[in-house]
Amino acid sequence: MTAHQQRLADLRARIADTAEVGSLLVSDLTNVRWLSGFTGSSGVLALDGTAVVLFTDGRYGVQAAQQTSTCGLDVDIRVAPTAAGLHDLLADWCRTAVGPVGFESEHVSVALHQRWTAAANVQFAAMRGLVEAGRRTKHHTEVERIEEACGIADRALADVAPRITAGVTEVEVRNMLEVRMRELGAAGPSYETIVAAGPLHAALPHHRPAQRRLEEGDTLIIDVGALVDGYHSDMTRTFVIGEPSEEQLDAYALVLESQRAGLDAVGPGVPARHIDAACRSVIERAGRGDWFSHGTGHGVGLLIHEEPYLNRVSEAVLQPGDVVTVEPGVYREGFGGVRIEDLVLVTADGSRRLTASPKDSPCLPSPPTT
Ligand code: ZN
Ligand code: ZN
Repeated sequence: MTAHQQRLADLRARIADTAEVGSLLVSDLTNVRWLSGFTGSSGVLALDGTAVVLFTDGRYGVQAAQQTSTCGLDVDIRVAPTAAGLHDLLADWCRTAVGPVGFESEHVSVALHQRWTAAANVQFAAMRGLVEAGRRTKHHTEVERIEEACGIADRALADVAPRITAGVTEVEVRNMLEVRMRELGAAGPSYETIVAAGPLHAALPHHRPAQRRLEEGDTLIIDVGALVDGYHSDMTRTFVIGEPSEEQLDAYALVLESQRAGLDAVGPGVPARHIDAACRSVIERAGRGDWFSHGTGHGVGLLIHEEPYLNRVSEAVLQPGDVVTVEPGVYREGFGGVRIEDLVLVTADGSRRLTASPKDSPCLPSPPTT
């Protein structure tokens, strides 16, 4: 059985378990891709206990047939002349479908839902997370792609680091990293690379790189990931330009201790909020709890942010196959910020770190003297 055949079989089992619907419309394109291999920008996958139908439009007929067949799937491809016409074909299918017809309520607009219900005289049922529940657990072929993306970001940061000095702008650092990741085989950056330096920009967890030049004494947060075959990586390292001050070294040591406590806590059966607590308690004990202004981590896969989330209110329990970040940070205007982030795979007996860039100290490697 191929990975995609297994995913469809598992999804059918989950649908049967709910006993709420007889068939399901998958309209979220990330879910369509994960189930069928189809990467086009227009498509809805409809399935019941026996049939799988992919509705798309004329731009993607050939691609849909090719991509689904290389995944080992026997998918009935129905091609509409226009993207809007796809929904007329879909409504035709729904009229004879095994009802109620489930749809992904988190990914369907009110307008689209109205259109379906007007066209097809069948009962629709709002469903949540049926495909995502399967997507969360990464197959080893998915972990391999994520690891490759992590390796590319590690290598790019190592290659670019000696060129990060006072006088270089945040935008230039971003560009060097993104070009280098493409040279190393990435399809692109996994998200817009964050390069945030100095007392103001590094105090913003998601600052967008600007034309400001790095200065001696800046803290510098670099949050970088690569994209490989649709799969993302995610990593943050923090540096100090020039000699770090006592305050910067203290903040760095605190975040590193917090992050290591979080990494040590990761394992199967552990509630996700315990990872958050492990990181947060270290920073709170140092009296800096209000400097840590975000959650501790998130799942990573075909999306850069996906289940499970690691924060104070998470109900998730970690399980083997989860790929999650651990990324505590401290931020304050006037000081700047420190964040350290690694990506880890939850294994049967603990966890395995997928990002490997050094993090023992915030010092950048010396630039080449030649
Ligand atoms: Zn990140
Ligand atoms: Zn992250």
